[in-house]
Amino acid sequence: MSDCLFCKIVRGEIPSRKVYEDDEMLAFHDINPVAPVHFMLVPKLHLDSLAEAGNEHAALLGRMMLLAPRLAKEQGLHNGFRTVINTGKGGGQEVFHLHIHIIGGGNIPPMVRRN
Ligand code: 5GP
Ligand code: ZN
Repeated sequence: MSDCLFCKIVRGEIPSRKVYEDDEMLAFHDINPVAPVHFMLVPKLHLDSLAEAGNEHAALLGRMMLLAPRLAKEQGLHNGFRTVINTGKGGGQEVFHLHIHIIGGGNIPPMVRRN
């Protein structure tokens, strides 16, 4: 998946503002934030989306979910935050490398507007 945008960010071929990195994950600020704090947590392993994850990825996904609140706090989100995983075209996904958006600060509106 050498032409994948987030794989290029993982490899350092495209610069990003890094929030966190370890052997299997990278977190970096979104280039077009929707709130005062908006960063993405991605596995270094390329998976197109959550729909492509299998049982063999259960531990990795678990570690991502546990890392999200730790990084959110480190970014100053002591009062809570939103996590978003867009999956597939039907879910509004634009970059097809699995990522968790971590969003917070300011006024976070209800996720779905009801009339
Ligand atoms: P998706 O819609 O796939 O869930 O989210 C993709 C996100 O990637 C968008 O929020 C978009 O702003 C962000 N993005 C797209 N290109 C880049 C880039 O080159 N660098 C960074 N840091 N974020 C990007
Ligand atoms: Zn990728």
